Amino acid sequence: MPELPEVETVRRGLAPVMEGRLILRADIRRPDLRWPFPERMEQRLTGARVLTLRRRSKYILADLDTSETLLIHLGMSGRMLISGDQIGHFHHAHPAPEKHDHVVLDMESGIRVTFNDARRFGAMDLAATDRTEAHPLLAVLGPEPLGNDFNETYLQARLANRRVPVKAALLDQRIVAGLGNIYVCEVLHRAGIAPERSAGSLTAAQVATLVPLIREVLNEAIRAGGSSLRDYRQTGGELGYFQHSFRVYGREGEACPTPGCGGTIARIVQAGRSSFHCPICQT
Ligand SMILES: [Zn+2]
Repeated sequence: MPELPEVETVRRGLAPVMEGRLILRADIRRPDLRWPFPERMEQRLTGARVLTLRRRSKYILADLDTSETLLIHLGMSGRMLISGDQIGHFHHAHPAPEKHDHVVLDMESGIRVTFNDARRFGAMDLAATDRTEAHPLLAVLGPEPLGNDFNETYLQARLANRRVPVKAALLDQRIVAGLGNIYVCEVLHRAGIAPERSAGSLTAAQVATLVPLIREVLNEAIRAGGSSLRDYRQTGGELGYFQHSFRVYGREGEACPTPGCGGTIARIVQAGRSSFHCPICQT
């Protein structure tokens, strides 16, 4: 499932082929993904110019010159594919749409952007640009982990007196938007905090270390995604999924990477999700 760094990588990959470009033709190839598509979506997209591509949590937001914004969520298995050439020859370069190619956007440049989603947990919607933040999917979200509103004072206030495990609190999208299971496991390992600890039991110093570690873990992954962008054309034009190595995620039974620790990475299940952690250096 794409997490924030993957979505940011997709946004960065799409920006050069979509920003400032007109959507010549939108082809919506089924009535819905996770939810029905908005009414007249093809007409509302066709002829619109993309002004900017933003990201909010795990949503890509394409602001259009029609005063509407296209919200895109990749869901569990959504992929963005880029095909064609910026200059000419494009009509030869587009592969025929495949079974799971649900939305096809032909840009004026000759580039084709295809949304492919085999499991159809993805979503697309259109909203007035000046009311995007009030969209039901976005209104519930807490601050961006890489933004200024997410800081030590804020996190302290949100975790204070909370009895839920710190893992659950960091996964709560109302507290911080876009953090997923993998990156929370990595952050808690770097912070030396056990995932089962209750959120309210963290010391002020521990909460203070969490904020920069969250940014560090996400930024490292975004950098890894950035390097994957350089050769997306060699990998069939698919954006956003990249090889990135994790210190604890998926490493049950391996030696803990913390220098001098000597522990072994263990896996527990919390609220139905795996928590990879080191029982020795995470307390
Ligand atoms: Zn350890």
